[in-house]
Amino acid sequence: MIFDPQHRKSNRSARIGMALFRMSQAIKKVTQAESNALGFSPVQIQALLFTYYTRSDVATIGNFANSIGTTHVTAVKIVNGLVRQGLITKTQKPEDRRVTLLCLTEEGKETVSKLKHWGHSLEEALHPISDEALANFELGLGAIISAMEKRGHLVVSEPCLGCIHFCPNTGDADAPHYCKLIQKYLSHESSLQACPEHTSSFEI
Ligand code: SF4
Repeated sequence: MIFDPQHRKSNRSARIGMALFRMSQAIKKVTQAESNALGFSPVQIQALLFTYYTRSDVATIGNFANSIGTTHVTAVKIVNGLVRQGLITKTQKPEDRRVTLLCLTEEGKETVSKLKHWGHSLEEALHPISDEALANFELGLGAIISAMEKRGHLVVSEPCLGCIHFCPNTGDADAPHYCKLIQKYLSHESSLQACPEHTSSFEI
């Protein structure tokens, strides 16, 4: 077990597992401090950023719940708090009325513009580390994230570039890119938004 120091001595996976656990504790602490300073909870900030960066037709409560690894009920409570503050609106998806789409109000967009530096403590903590060490770390971390995603522990939302379903520049000027998964043409702007269905074409 990863908390047993003797076990860690002879087991690299346990050492890395413990390191990740410690990192998650530190990340929780710094994001909480940054969020407090802005007057929101970390999950409220994540809801605002999710709504801003996710393609509008997939910015649903369900996808938000998956993105932060929580239940639908908890995600609804988080979103409702932001609806009451006038930052987010909820609408039913026209094609499926059981699905709730999230959208930022003008005030919500203004709030997001003030969140630009949220997470900066994490980025700053990495500044003293050499670029070479970070490049190796990025590769290893990518492999860990991919393994956790395959086990269903997390969802990685990314823009279209690098997705196996992406067929760029096959449409017209208004919607130049095609997605084989949803079988729709997308505007260039939509293809730059995060998509929870992104499936990386890079094998790690
Ligand atoms: S599944 Fe892939 S190609 Fe399709 S919209 Fe999502 S990211 Fe883009």
